[in-house]
Amino acid sequence: MSAIDILSLTYDELRSELSALGEKPFRAGQIYKWLHVKRVTDFGEMTDVPASLREKLGTLYTFRRPKPVRILKSERDGTVKLLFELYDGNHVETVLMSYEHGDSLCVSTQAGCRMGCRFCASTIAGFKRNLEPCEILGQLYETERATGRKVSSIVLMGIGEPLDNYDNVVKFLKILEAPEGTNLSLRHVSLSTCGLVDKIYELSKLNFGLTLSISLHSPYDEKRSELMPINRKFHIDQLMKACRDYFEATGRRISFEYALIEGENDSREDAAALVKLLRGTPSHINIIPVNKIAERNYRSDRQSALRFCKLLNGMGANATVRRTLGSDINAACGQLRREYEKADGTNTNT
Ligand code: SAH
Repeated sequence: MSAIDILSLTYDELRSELSALGEKPFRAGQIYKWLHVKRVTDFGEMTDVPASLREKLGTLYTFRRPKPVRILKSERDGTVKLLFELYDGNHVETVLMSYEHGDSLCVSTQAGCRMGCRFCASTIAGFKRNLEPCEILGQLYETERATGRKVSSIVLMGIGEPLDNYDNVVKFLKILEAPEGTNLSLRHVSLSTCGLVDKIYELSKLNFGLTLSISLHSPYDEKRSELMPINRKFHIDQLMKACRDYFEATGRRISFEYALIEGENDSREDAAALVKLLRGTPSHINIIPVNKIAERNYRSDRQSALRFCKLLNGMGANATVRRTLGSDINAACGQLRREYEKADGTNTNT
């Protein structure tokens, strides 16, 4: 399919495309509203746009809506997990979580991942391709459509490494915050990265105001490189320097993710080294008992996470244990897609 999905265009891009077609500037606002506020799925529905322009748009652009092929609802806590099929048969996962402050959506940014983190199900089947801006956005629109719920915050923490798909993710963020469209403040967005240091510097220059989450998982280079191959390219001291730069540029405190793994990163020495490492960087540590995946023997439990958290707090760090949501529907990222593709074998893109 060669046509571009019109939902991948930023407002400025749409305006200049329309101007190239000889259209008046106000048409861009009109069309953006149909797309991102009214969320139509067909040019024919844009009733105040002249038929000739609708027809022209139809020849130039398309809609590639992600299709929900499985929707799992937790009986325990309102978590909904969706498996989306993309236009070329790839699959990604999206998780809707309910919090006191509203509903939060965890979106995927790539089909698969090439970062190779040892404990992560998303990386095991390898990397297929980057998602286009419309496919990241589509997870939001189609989840709201399918569930009737309204999302108030977004975390880029699903399948894939967002900074490895930098241009499309930046475009997605611009579309999301456009006042003419969805108009979601990027203060309600968190981006999680395994630590692509060069891209963190680029992101801080954009000053989006979003929260940066760093998947740290160990304060030691040797252990971190074993768990996360990216650490061989960007060491912890380079990563921490980029985090301090991000804070100075944006004023946003950094969130550090720490998946606790028994016998790997859960000792008192690990806690002390972690506290020492983060001293001087305004931060919050999010502890997650590692989710078991079929292919690895890593494990942990909530009790250990609480114990480790207490250790950190006792040493003066700002740490909490992440609430476990959707435990009855296997909500950890990458697992549903793996199961679906293993059982069904229909993904022809391998
Ligand atoms: N690539 C990005 C975002 C996707 S992963 C990143 O690395 O941050 C989202 C988060 O889930 C990361 O913190 C990742 O390290 C963590 N994660 C992956 N597999 C996990 C598992 N089995 N248990 C607990 N956390 C896991």
